[in-house]
Amino acid sequence: MKPSHIEHIGIAVANLRDAIAFYEKTFNLQCYKIEEVPDQKVRTAFFMIGDTKIELLEPTDPEGPIAKFIEKRGEGIHHIAFAVTNVDEALHQAEKEGVRLIDSQSRKGADNLQIGFLHPKSTSGVLIELCEASGRHGS
Ligand code: ZN
Repeated sequence: MKPSHIEHIGIAVANLRDAIAFYEKTFNLQCYKIEEVPDQKVRTAFFMIGDTKIELLEPTDPEGPIAKFIEKRGEGIHHIAFAVTNVDEALHQAEKEGVRLIDSQSRKGADNLQIGFLHPKSTSGVLIELCEASGRHGS
């Protein structure tokens, strides 16, 4: 696989409304979308900085992965997302090369992306998300 760019950076926040206000006021960025992803127990908000997005993630359930992350490590960078042309192909290839995966198959993420995560044990402790624009998988 060869990612084309950093699609987004995911940042775990305790309070989405406060975090949005901070990004809008401090950086003069416009939040273009707020989306709840029940599957991952988060509410997300998106900003564009050039070709890269900032994805703010607020937990909607204390048992969800983002709530657990904030509980353990506090707010902060949660993951980095690389844009690839085909997530399933990229996951499959990484697995063949011995990379540990969180998702062996792509799934639907926020903001019309098809996504899959590599395991931080294989990536120097960074949670890396692979993503592609949705549509080709018919869901
Ligand atoms: Zn993400």
